[in-house]
Amino acid sequence: MTSGSLPPFPFRNAAHDRLCERRGDEEFLDTAWTDSATRVLVMRGWDLALGDGEGSLRLVSPQDAPPGERMLLGAVDGTAYFLVIVADPPSPEGGGNDGANAETVATGKIDDPTQGWPFGSLRQVAGRLDDVQASLAVHAVSLTGWHLRHPRCSLCGAETEVASAGESRTCPSCGAQHFPRTDPAVIMLVVDADDRCLLGHNSARAPGWYSTLAGFVEPGESPEQAVVREVKEETGVDVADVGYAGSQPWPFPSSLMLGFFATASTTDIVVDGTEITEARWFTRADVKHEVESGELVLPTTISIAGALITSWYGDDLPASRS
Ligand SMILES: [Zn+2]
Repeated sequence: MTSGSLPPFPFRNAAHDRLCERRGDEEFLDTAWTDSATRVLVMRGWDLALGDGEGSLRLVSPQDAPPGERMLLGAVDGTAYFLVIVADPPSPEGGGNDGANAETVATGKIDDPTQGWPFGSLRQVAGRLDDVQASLAVHAVSLTGWHLRHPRCSLCGAETEVASAGESRTCPSCGAQHFPRTDPAVIMLVVDADDRCLLGHNSARAPGWYSTLAGFVEPGESPEQAVVREVKEETGVDVADVGYAGSQPWPFPSSLMLGFFATASTTDIVVDGTEITEARWFTRADVKHEVESGELVLPTTISIAGALITSWYGDDLPASRS
């Protein structure tokens, strides 16, 4: 298996121009915002505003957009796209402010055009979005998540302000600039000399669920080193020949999944017993038989894990008959 051999998975294709050079251009931003052709993607907390039909985002004109924090996502074929983050609806007790500014919340109480709109998580809809909407949505969710989770300066503790159309936050107290962060994680498909595949059962999952091993890259560590370390820690298996397979933004909340293939130099398994409670070597026949019988459940989600396993399996993964 080589780099670039993965089957399709969500968020793989960048389909919008991020217009990085326009983020500080107030004239452009104001002009684009008055153009009725401009489209606005709306988020409330971590959820996206959805269309009335299945599997699409609700993209409205600036005139129909609710009040909230406005950010530039970019453009597709000459149409500008913005993100507006609205506050959570106030709870009956009067709480519910998730970090957006109080003025926005107050405005939203008076006239909330999002009332009645369906909202849903990116996980729910990712598999049904086309490339353009998936590209905009993963950008919007990543950006929103960072803003919601970083309202204060990490140096002095003061409340920070959105800058450069959402590209960063600045601290009015100490002047620090803060940029969105992404946490690199490795996810790897390990095979042995007999071309069996190593999959692990995560303790947080239901019995019978197995997937590729994964873990965060530590400070000062390369992704390749992280692959070797994580496989050893979680299963006791030594690996060599670590090769890059592909990547996937994974904003749940802020990861970048770096996919790898790796070859095992040992096969004895000793699981860590905490994160990974079971791990096994699977032949393709094992996978087919056990998935069809319902004993084995593989990741059928939107994650790159499914693409890595499918790439090794060599065909569409079998479906359960139970
Ligand atoms: Zn500060």
